[in-house]
Amino acid sequence: MSPKPVVLKVGGSAITFKDKPLTPNLRAMKRLAGEIRRAEVSNLIIVHGGGSFGHPIAKEYAIKDGFKTENQNIGFCWTHNAMVTLNSLFVNALIQNGVCAVTVAPSSCILTKQGRIRIFQDKALTKLLEKGFVPVLYGDAVIDLAKGFTILSGDQLVSNLAIKFEAERIVVGVDVDGLYTADPKTNSSAKLIKKVTLEKLKQLQKDVGGSQTVDVTGGMFGKIRELTSAVEKGIPVLIVNAAKPNRIYKALKNEKVLGTHISRGENNH
Ligand code: ADP
Repeated sequence: MSPKPVVLKVGGSAITFKDKPLTPNLRAMKRLAGEIRRAEVSNLIIVHGGGSFGHPIAKEYAIKDGFKTENQNIGFCWTHNAMVTLNSLFVNALIQNGVCAVTVAPSSCILTKQGRIRIFQDKALTKLLEKGFVPVLYGDAVIDLAKGFTILSGDQLVSNLAIKFEAERIVVGVDVDGLYTADPKTNSSAKLIKKVTLEKLKQLQKDVGGSQTVDVTGGMFGKIRELTSAVEKGIPVLIVNAAKPNRIYKALKNEKVLGTHISRGENNH
């Protein structure tokens, strides 16, 4: 029997220049592809984010809010197309580095209802995985059974895939060293949380104003919210800085690395 899969999320901030629309970070893609290749994970699923490709167009046409007017339809197409372009660049880097990567387009196999994954036709993905390929998915514009269409985040996909395929663990690469007590980009006194259980994390988030609170905002807020459901099922999460060389490599190899380990409870790693 093949080992349980590892689900790797590569944040859009790691493979694009987030403040420059439609600008890929090709050097980072190449380096990350090399790290993924060297780590030789035998059962791997990759999900990447949108960074400066998906987000600006999706926002301009309010795709996440669902269908309201006809002229949003072209925005749905542009958003999906931007993600296809980014995905193609990343998959190209993976293949050039010897990773047997195959795109699985979420908009072709997933339907959401009120923004949550409702139907996931995963037969092709399962077979690709069984045959040793590395399926590569991404945050995408998808058809929504209630709202017409919406944006499916890479983070929701990661949790869903990890639970569906009973993943051994989830590795999340972002552009900061892990989960901090506050956004490290705007708060210089933010401290890195190296290890936390779900219970403790919930407690810290509730305890606003206390001396040991955790203020999670922006992209990290959505990430933690989505990942919580996988951690609750006993799948541990490791958040590392994908912008720093070898962090993703070490995380995939399960070697000691700077980052945040989130687990269900004391006995779960
Ligand atoms: P990606 O697009 O790579 O998936 P995001 O940009 O959506 O990642 O989310 C990561 C960002 O969340 C970080 O760059 C950081 O600025 C922000 N953030 C907000 N609160 C926190 C926190 N408590 N700890 C770490 N990062 C945080």
